Amino acid sequence: MSKMPVLFVGHGSPMNAIEDNEYSRGWRKIAESIPKPKVILSVSAHWYTRGTRIMNEENPKTIYDMYGFPDELYKITYNTSGSPAVAEKASELISRKTKYDNSWGIDHGTWSVLVHMYPKRDIPVFQISVDRDAPPEQHYIMGRELRALREEGVLIFGTGNVVHNLRLVDWHKSNKGFDWAYEFDDYIYENILNKNHENILKYNELGDIARLAVPTPDHFYPLLYTLDASDEDDKISVHNKSCELGSLTMTAYLWG
Ligand code: ZN
Repeated sequence: MSKMPVLFVGHGSPMNAIEDNEYSRGWRKIAESIPKPKVILSVSAHWYTRGTRIMNEENPKTIYDMYGFPDELYKITYNTSGSPAVAEKASELISRKTKYDNSWGIDHGTWSVLVHMYPKRDIPVFQISVDRDAPPEQHYIMGRELRALREEGVLIFGTGNVVHNLRLVDWHKSNKGFDWAYEFDDYIYENILNKNHENILKYNELGDIARLAVPTPDHFYPLLYTLDASDEDDKISVHNKSCELGSLTMTAYLWG
C-alpha cells in the first residue's frame, strides 16, 4: 500500500456542514484527489482535554458540541464505525502517557468536514484529543510518532483553524479578514512551504499578531500533528486559503 497523504483543514463555522460553498467544495475536491483511506484518525480542536485521550469504541456517537445553530445541524449524524485496532496502534506509537476515553464522540470539527469529503460514511473514524497543557513541541512530536500509520492507509486528519478568534468575529466580513489575520496565516503558509517548522513552533514570538490569531491554541495545535506526520518527500498543496468573518482563516494543507 502506498503511503496515505496527511491533511489539515480549517473547518470554520459549523454551518459549512450544510452549505455548498467554496470551502465545502474545496474539501470534496481534496477527497477526490487522494486514495480512499482505510481509517481516519482525526485530531479535532473541539476535543480539548487535560492529557491525550484516544477514542477506541466500535461505534462512536455523533456529538453536537456547538450552540445556537439551526435545527438542521443537530440532525446530522456521522454514524460510521470506530477503529479500536488502529486506536490501539496509535496509543502504542505515542511515547507519552495516553488514556482511552469514550466519553466524547465524533464532534463537529470532524463531521462538518467529513460529511462533504466522505458522505457515504463508510470509513472508520476515531479521534485523538488535543492536550491543552502540552507545549507546541509535544503536539508536533506526536504527529511524528503517528507518521507510521500512513503506511497502513490511515489518513491523519487535523481539523482546526490557523487563525481562530471568536471574540473578534465580524459577521459583516464574509470572505474578508483583518490585516493581522492575513499576516499570521501568511507566516504559517510561508513556513510550511519552506519547511521551516521551527518558526511555526515558535509562533508566539510574533507577539501581538500571534495573540490575536491564536488567543487559545485549541484550533492551532491540530496543525502541528499534521506538520510532523508529513515528511521530506511529500508534495504540499494548499486549499481554501482565505479569511472569513475577519478573524478565521480557512486554509487547508495536504501533504502527499
Ligand atoms: Zn472549531
